[in-house]
Amino acid sequence: MDRRLFLVLLLAGCAGPAPPPPVSGPAPAPTPTPPPQVPAPPPTTGDAGYDAWRAEFRGRAVAAGLSGELIDRELAGLTPNPRVISLDSAQPEFSKPIGDYVKGVISADRIARGQRYRADLPFWPGIEQRFGVPRDILIAVWAMESAFGAVQGDFDVVRSMASLAYHGRRRAWAEGELIATLKIISSGEVGRAQLKGSWAGAMGQTQFLPSNYISTAVDGDGDGKRDIWGSPNDALASAANLLAKGGWVSGQSWAREVTLPAGFDYSLTEGPKEPPPYWEGLGVKAADGRPWTPAEQAPAMLVAPAGAGGPIFLLFPNHFAIRKYNNSTAYALGIGLLADAFAGGAPLVRPWPVETPLAIGDRIGAQTALAKLGFSPGAPDGVVGVNTRTALRAWQKSRGLIADGYLSMDMVRRLNVEAGALPN
Ligand code: CA
Repeated sequence: MDRRLFLVLLLAGCAGPAPPPPVSGPAPAPTPTPPPQVPAPPPTTGDAGYDAWRAEFRGRAVAAGLSGELIDRELAGLTPNPRVISLDSAQPEFSKPIGDYVKGVISADRIARGQRYRADLPFWPGIEQRFGVPRDILIAVWAMESAFGAVQGDFDVVRSMASLAYHGRRRAWAEGELIATLKIISSGEVGRAQLKGSWAGAMGQTQFLPSNYISTAVDGDGDGKRDIWGSPNDALASAANLLAKGGWVSGQSWAREVTLPAGFDYSLTEGPKEPPPYWEGLGVKAADGRPWTPAEQAPAMLVAPAGAGGPIFLLFPNHFAIRKYNNSTAYALGIGLLADAFAGGAPLVRPWPVETPLAIGDRIGAQTALAKLGFSPGAPDGVVGVNTRTALRAWQKSRGLIADGYLSMDMVRRLNVEAGALPN
């Protein structure tokens, strides 16, 4: 017998009053059974792993302040959604080159609709005054997140988050969002039926996660409710609040396209954040030849998102505020350039290069080659992140190549040849 169990039984046997002696005589009348103090656990789902997770999650959710009754009610009959789990683990075979992605973002139809909304909607001055975020950025977010409110997703957010918390790549994160979702229900502010979103739980016209909804959604139209699903004013004021909390500085630019002198050291890309005069001292110039403006005096990061052959940018702090929405350079560039297009800005001086999409095998092959050659690109997962780009820059620099850290098909081929994976 398990020693602890034995001790518990022993103590249980000792503690408390002795049972009453048996009484002879007529049997007492049966008394009605009192209602149980603890509700029965929800029925099993047939998935033992999921049931075990649910039982453990219940304890953590109660510790986070939720009532067991609410948890049991909302999770009753819920099973993991196989579609959510499959979408979470899917990795596309080909990665879209950033230029193709951004060109796709800035479509003529989107620009036309955005320009209509920037002129027609009456609530912009109120939002701009309250949060200091310009309407063009907000319209770009609205376009990208939900096609101006038209595509919000109709997944049950409780089920999506439970699926990801049980079986996702980011379980702790999803469990926190599941607790946030249940807290929204518990507060009575929004009912379960309205808590619909993308497969990954992003909700409403500006695709807020449940925790963002709790902390950051606001009532824009003044009806006392925070309705990011049905009220464009509420949704866009909430997006402005998210960007303002993310560090958006009113009246400041988000980026400026620049050109670099011949022989420029590209290892400075994705590096220091310095104001334009520092970069000018290194020969960096505004691509349109115009002077810097008062909106462009903050420390800026130099980036070459499509490598030395594509457009080059200085990214100001507002670019990084946009990345609070989605921490991707491509996304934030897309938002900024789309916003510029709404305002009638000129197209880029240097166009995006036309490129061959890399297959996942190309990306993993390049990472494997970098590791074999003594550079450290991180896990060979096919995701070209900052570790891979830093390793690539170091390899490029050591081989006398332009160290732009950009994984083109040409770089994949050179790496494979040098690592012996391809014949020279
Ligand atoms: Ca409202």
